Order: sequence, then structure tokens, then C-alpha cells
Amino acid sequence: MENWICMTCGTQFAESEEQPRECPICLDQRQYVGHEGQKWTTQSTLHEDGMRNTVKEHEAGLTGIGSTPTFAIGQRALLVQTGQGNILWDCVSLLDKETVEAVERLGGLKAIAISHPHYYSSVYDLQVRPPKAARQ
Ligand SMILES: [Zn+2]
Repeated sequence: MENWICMTCGTQFAESEEQPRECPICLDQRQYVGHEGQKWTTQSTLHEDGMRNTVKEHEAGLTGIGSTPTFAIGQRALLVQTGQGNILWDCVSLLDKETVEAVERLGGLKAIAISHPHYYSSVYDLQVRPPKAARQ
């Protein structure tokens, strides 16, 4: 079973044996399905293809997380450190061991806020279980 990730919008979905038939985020009139149709990938494939995240402090208490090469709509996440706990503002599609460890070093997460549907990215992995890549 895999948690398929839509290659157009970067949203990850619950485990299934087969690729989902369609992505409800991309079917929304505010998004689109690519000319070649619906395409899917997985955390493992993104990692194997060489995608990596960069974790960079922008200013005290504000850290950005972005993926290279850019994937889907170029999502980025912002980790906001507060005295009441850290908030992740939006999410990225690749959640590997290095990214999870970096977030843990910064104090972990108390809450996750998503600004738009395509920024759900791989928040499923953050909320439900550790990323597969993080177990490798
Ligand atoms: Zn999609």
C-alpha cells in the first residue's frame, strides 16, 4: 500500500493499493489537471529521484522548509516558533528523515495550519504516522 502524491498539486492521500483515479484538489476549478492527465508519485520515489529539503532560518523564530528540485506548485512550509509551541504553516510533499529530525531539533510541532488545499501536501504523514522515508 502506498500514500500516493499528486504530481500536479503535491497533495498526499491515504494509503491505497492502486493510484487514486483522480485528485479532488486538481479537479477543483481553482486548480487544474495537467495536459498529460493525472500523475502520481510516492515519498520513496521523490527521495530516490534525488529530491531533498532545505531547512533555513529566515529570522529568529521563523524557519523555511523548501524542496529541491521544485515539485508540484513549489510548496514551502514555514515553522513558526512561539512560546506556546511551534506551528507549521503549510507543508511540503517530501518528508524525509532529515526534515523530520530538523523539525524535532527546532522543538517539534504543536499545531499545523494550512492556507490553501494544495498546501496540505504530505501533512497526512505528519499527523498520522512517521514518514516512510524517515524510517529508512
Ligand atoms: Zn492534485
